[in-house]
Parts: sequence; C-alpha cells; structure tokens
Amino acid sequence: LTSSLRSGISSSDALTSEVRLPLGSRGSEMGTELNGAPVITAVNLRKMYGPHLALDDVNLEIPSGAVGILGPNGAGKSTLFKCLLGLIKTTSGEGTVLGYDIRTEGDKIRSRIGYMPEYDALDPGLAAIDQVRYSGELLGMNPAHATQRAHEVLEYVGLKDQRYRKIETFSTGMMQATKLACALVHDPEILICDEPTNGLDQRAREFMLQTLRRTVSEGGRSVLMSSHVMDDVQDVCDRIVMIHKGKIVVQSRIDELAKQVDREIEISIWGGASRMQAALEGRGFEVRRLGRVIRVDRVDDNTTFVILEAAVEAGVQVRQMQEYEPDLEDIFLLIMDKLGAKVKGTSELMTESHTGGGSPE
Ligand code: ADP
Ligand code: MG
Repeated sequence: LTSSLRSGISSSDALTSEVRLPLGSRGSEMGTELNGAPVITAVNLRKMYGPHLALDDVNLEIPSGAVGILGPNGAGKSTLFKCLLGLIKTTSGEGTVLGYDIRTEGDKIRSRIGYMPEYDALDPGLAAIDQVRYSGELLGMNPAHATQRAHEVLEYVGLKDQRYRKIETFSTGMMQATKLACALVHDPEILICDEPTNGLDQRAREFMLQTLRRTVSEGGRSVLMSSHVMDDVQDVCDRIVMIHKGKIVVQSRIDELAKQVDREIEISIWGGASRMQAALEGRGFEVRRLGRVIRVDRVDDNTTFVILEAAVEAGVQVRQMQEYEPDLEDIFLLIMDKLGAKVKGTSELMTESHTGGGSPE
C-alpha cells in the first residue's frame, strides 16, 4: 500500500518540480531561534462544551517537524486546534504556541501560524486570488504584499492557472488547495491543517500530502495535521499523537510506534487448523485465526519452538512461520481496539494479504 502510494506521488512530483517554494528559507534559523524547545505545549488542557467534555486533561509537548493528530470522528481533534489557536476559550489548564499563551495571546499566535480549517472558510463568489489576498489583509499584510503573496502561494498549491476563477466553480480538491493557500499567505512558521485530505480523490490527496511534505522538508516549517486515516499521517509526519474521547492515548515518533503493541507470530499450516488451535491454546496461547493462518503473541525467543511442538502434537505441517510485522494501520486499530473504540474487530485485521487469499478449511 505504502509503496503504491509513493509511486503515485513521485509521478506528480514531475508536475510540480518547477514550482518555487514561496517560503523564505529559515529552516536553520528556526532551529536556533527555538533552541530545540517544543513549538506547542499543553498542560492539563480541558475543554467543555456545556456538560460535554471534549478535551480531557490534555498534556502535549510537540517539537518542530511534522506531527499527525489521529483519532476517530468526535475524538476532539478540531477542538484541540481551536484551543491552540486561541479561537475558543479553554475551560482549564494552559498551553503555549511558539511561547505565546493560548489563553491570552491568540492574536499573536494566529499571526505566526497558518490554519486550514476543517469546514468551508471560503467565499464562493470570490476569485481564488482575491480570497487569498483577503486572507492576507485580514492578517495585517498591506494590499500590495498580500497580492504578491497570493500569486505565489496559489502557484505553490497548484492553482496557478485557476487563480482568477471563482471559487464556486472549484472541485473539492481545488477548494482544499485554496484553503491551504490562505493558510500560507503570511508565511507562517507552523501550519495547522484540520483534515486536509477530507473529500479528496486520490490525485488531489497525493498532491495535498506532497505539498505538506515539501512545506516541512524544503520550507523547514512545522506542520500539525489531523486525520482519521493513518495513511495520510504516515505519509507526511514523523510523529503522531493519537486522541480518543478527548484524551491523548499515544504520543510517539512513528518509527517507535511498533513498540506500543505486542509482537505476533503468524503461522500458515496445511490441514488440521482446529487441532493446531487447540494444541496452542493448551499451551496457554490466545489464538487469532483466520482459516489456515494462525497468529499468537510472541512471548519470548522460545515461542517458535513451542509452536513447532504444538504442530507435532496436532499432526499438522507448518508451511510458513514468521514474525508478523504490523503496519501502522494495524497498530492504530489495535490501540483503538484496546481502548474499546469500536473502530474494527481484531479479526478484521487479518486481511487477505495476510492469509494468502486462501479459503478457510
Ligand atoms: P474531531 O475533530 O476529532 O472529529 P471535535 O473536536 O469536532 O472532534 O469534537 C469533539 C467532541 O466535542 C464531539 O463529541 C463533538 O460532538 C463535540 N463538539 C464539538 N464542537 C462542539 C460545539 N461547538 N458544541 C458542543 N459540542 C461540540
Ligand atoms: Mg474535526
């Protein structure tokens, strides 16, 4: 899946390699300025909508770079962003963005952060160029500068040829790109994108993710993006924050995420899967089985030996045995499953590619 995604992206790379990055180069300067300090912090941040607890004592320390906020619908992602931007009043707790207090310095925060909201923030009757220029002026840019920047950022998001068209004629992908241009117009240090790929077709989605990646890798900016799809986050981010029912449940580098779940061994056998299951259960394993593919937790180095013993007892032939490498989607679902979030049952995690497409006996 990941490799097919990547090849898709490299093909669109060719289309955009000409487009100059409209971001002043400040990668290294930013590093010194921030001195490795987190760009965003939250301490016991709580948000209630009336009696409804939307953020439950959130503690965060987000370093510069690309961070994905992942969680099912209603988890509190949008609420978190609005609190960080100082757009809504928090109930209790505190937080900072680039050192500014989210409770009292929202205007300073918003002048240094680009925000791409989840829902439509566009005026359908305006041409894209006017919409983006207007966003710049609202952020305090003078009209000439805002106009110049509007041209640059619209080119960056792939709308150079469409910039004089009215937004009401745009596809969802073009509207999302326009929202991104509005968020970038004042050359912010941090870009906060709320579900930037929502409603996009594959091509528009790849372009959006690629643009966000470039903003980090070439522009040296930080990106905080939310999604309910692991794939999107995996593609852009090096860190992840998982949120569930208003609580932060995981805060980790993506490459360390696999450590959060138990390793499993996957066994393919010929015949007698039920006998094999019984033999494994007799040895204390909890067995996950789909047809002739069986998975058990890898307890220690001895686990493979115990599995072979069980196979001898059951009189079955082991065709293949390997440590099962969960992909990030699996890990996300496993973590959500442990928390009781009804995202998907564990058995559904055994996808066709894991069973070799064989029919159950
Ligand atoms: P997400 O962006 O992860 O889908 P939200 O932050 O939009 O989640 O919502 C978190 C919870 O707060 C949800 O249960 C939602 O129904 C509730 N909520 C969001 N905005 C409001 C609001 N303005 N008034 C009351 N409840 C809200
Ligand atoms: Mg949301």
